[in-house]
Amino acid sequence: MRFLAIGECMAELAPSDQIGEFKLGFAGDTFNTAWYLAQVASEIDVSYLTAVGDDAISQDMRTFMKDSRISDTHVQVIAGKTVGLYLIHLNNGERSFSYWRNDSAARQLAVDEIALGRAVGDADLIYLSGITLAILDPQSREKLFDALRHARAYGMTVAFDTNLRPRLWSTPQEMTDTIMIAAAQSDLVLPSYDDEAEWFGDRDSIATLNRYAEIGVDQIVVKNSAQPVVFQKDGQRGEVDVDPVTSVVDTTAAGDSFNAGVLASVLRHDDLTDGIRQGCRLASHVVRHKGALIPVDVNLGEDEG
Ligand code: ADP
Repeated sequence: MRFLAIGECMAELAPSDQIGEFKLGFAGDTFNTAWYLAQVASEIDVSYLTAVGDDAISQDMRTFMKDSRISDTHVQVIAGKTVGLYLIHLNNGERSFSYWRNDSAARQLAVDEIALGRAVGDADLIYLSGITLAILDPQSREKLFDALRHARAYGMTVAFDTNLRPRLWSTPQEMTDTIMIAAAQSDLVLPSYDDEAEWFGDRDSIATLNRYAEIGVDQIVVKNSAQPVVFQKDGQRGEVDVDPVTSVVDTTAAGDSFNAGVLASVLRHDDLTDGIRQGCRLASHVVRHKGALIPVDVNLGEDEG
C-alpha cells in the first residue's frame, strides 16, 4: 500500500521555554498528515512530493522526513532555492504565525511534469490540499490536475482536504472556484465546516456535504471541531460523534491528524466509519498537546472495535 502526499513542508520556529529562544522543527498541513500516517500505519509506504532547495536546511528537512519513515524519493531539489519558514509567536498563551514562504522551492513542485507523473504513478492513494494548490502558479496547477486525472484513469484514489487559506490566493473567488474544480476531480474530500461556512456560506455541515455531493464526489467527510463528523460514501450518509476534549491545549494539526486516520482506513479498505473513529482518536490526542507533530502511541491508530 503506497501513499503519496503532495505539498509544502516548512521549517518551523516555535518558542521554547526560554524567552526569546526558538526551537527548529518541520511541519506543513499535508506533511503533518503523512507524518501521522507513517506513525500509525507501519504497513503503508509513505512518500512526500515537494521541492526543496540545495542548502543545509533543505537537507535537514529531508533527513527529518527519512527519520520519520517518510520517503524523500519524490522530493525535487531546486538549485539556489530554500524551504519556506514560519515562526510562532506566543502572547499570553495565544499563538500567532508569521510566514516567509512566498519564494519557497515548494512552489515549483509541479513544474517538472515527468517527475510528477512518475510520482503519482507510484502511489495507490494520492493526497493534496487547498494549500498545495494555493502555492502553485496556474500553469503548475494545470499540470498537477493533469497528473491527477491520469492517475485516476489508472485506478488510483485521490483525496483532497480543501484547507481554505484566503491569504495564499489572489482573490477569495479564485480560491473557491479552484477548490470546487479540485474537489470534482477527487474521490474523497475532507473539508472542515468552520472554514467552509465562512467562504462558501454553508448553513451547517450537511450543507457542506450536499455541496460536494452535488458535484459528484463519491466520499465526503466533514470535520466540525467537537461536533459530530458527517460523511457520505456511495450515496449512503452517516455521522460519528466526537468525544469533546475540554482541556484543549492547541488545535494545530487536529484536522491533519484526523485525515491520517481516515486515509489509513481507505488504504486498508476498512469501513469509512472505522477510519473516522481512528481520525477522532488521533485528533483528540493531538489537541491535548502543544505543536503540530505529537508522537503517537501506535495503538491510537488501531481500531478498538
Ligand atoms: P481543522 O483542524 O481542519 O480546522 P477541526 O477543528 O474541525 O479541523 O477538527 C478536526 C478534528 O479534530 C475533529 O473532527 C475532531 O475529531 C477533532 N477535534 C477538534 N477539536 C476537538 C475538541 N475540542 N474535542 C475533541 N476533538 C476535537
